[in-house]
Amino acid sequence: MKVLFLNHCGKLGGAELCLINTAKPYRDSCLVGLFADDGPLYHWLEQQHIPVQVLATQPIGVRKESSLLQGLASLGQLSPLIAKVALLSHEYDLIFANTHKALVVGALASLFSRRPLVYCLHDILSEDHFSRTNCRIAVTLANHFASRVITNSKATQAAFVQAGGRPDLTDVVYNGFEPEIYQSHKVEYRHMRQQLGLEGRFLVGHFSRLSTWKGQHILIEALRYCPEDVVALLVGDALFDEQDYVQQLHEQVSVLGLKERVRFLGFRSDVVSLMVACDLVAHTSIAPEPFGRVIVEAMLCGRPVVAAQAGGAVELVETDRTGWLVPPGDPQRLGEVISACHNQPEYTATIAYQAQIQASQRFHLSVINQQIAQLLCRTIA
Ligand code: UDP
Repeated sequence: MKVLFLNHCGKLGGAELCLINTAKPYRDSCLVGLFADDGPLYHWLEQQHIPVQVLATQPIGVRKESSLLQGLASLGQLSPLIAKVALLSHEYDLIFANTHKALVVGALASLFSRRPLVYCLHDILSEDHFSRTNCRIAVTLANHFASRVITNSKATQAAFVQAGGRPDLTDVVYNGFEPEIYQSHKVEYRHMRQQLGLEGRFLVGHFSRLSTWKGQHILIEALRYCPEDVVALLVGDALFDEQDYVQQLHEQVSVLGLKERVRFLGFRSDVVSLMVACDLVAHTSIAPEPFGRVIVEAMLCGRPVVAAQAGGAVELVETDRTGWLVPPGDPQRLGEVISACHNQPEYTATIAYQAQIQASQRFHLSVINQQIAQLLCRTIA
């Protein structure tokens, strides 16, 4: 099957890491079209021998929070790109839109080329994340132009339907992972801690772009309720113009006198080694998380996880069986769970082990890619 994948940016977020895994089985006959070469995605796709091309020559002005007028104004700017994608898509059986802006372009291109469109929805379509106009645009285009909408969790599916999306179009397909990649790093626990100069400390890792809704400030605040030897590792950088938040986090650390207990490591491509070096992985989003790759990755690494109880995270973690869920935006409760894990290492290890076994089966890439293949085959049939 020949698939034209579309992604609006070249940055590496969860949606893009998922795209790499989705596109892999089609690498002999697919193309990933990017609308910008503004990050490492192009290079990562090339490394995996997945054909990739940058299709746009200028950045798209419209943003998640844009109004209707701004959205309409950007249509003129998009028309050469839409024409290019429509022409290109004649060579493919199907257009696969991986992001919101990719849907806009893919929907109109599919109208002209009469190729079926699959929309892979990685976001909770609600006003926590998008302007009302943008939610409406996504739902309207999906309802009218998409043959299928793949949602990455039941929470994402429910939000799509709540926003007016057609339930009959949707299928929930979780992100897939290769467990072997996460389980071959056992020796690195001590080595990475030595490199970081943090031997003997209880490390709580947070792996996410620095963004207000990802709630790194909640973890920093939670340290006040934890023993003194607990250190937070913040792995990730601001991806989408959130420098003010980064500044705010540094100020918070200063004000609370936590400079020795918070490390900012920036964006890292060795997430697995860092996760293995952690005693606990914390997920602290204050708005519902669509899926939460980091939660599954931590489980696959055999690391215990505490996650914010909202959105897709609720489908991944079961308290006291595969991790712990805490109310979003509650640093005290988070601090209590961190302290409990610190005090009960054996019990915590048992939970982490159970989570690892379950996640290795439930989110295995081969199973997930098979689900996608069936959906795509049905779509073109
Ligand atoms: N990640 C990474 N380097 C970093 C921070 C995060 O590669 O420095 C990865 C992380 O391992 C995960 C993805 O970025 O696979 C984030 O996905 P998630 O679903 O957790 O959040 P999203 O970015 O989609 O909101």
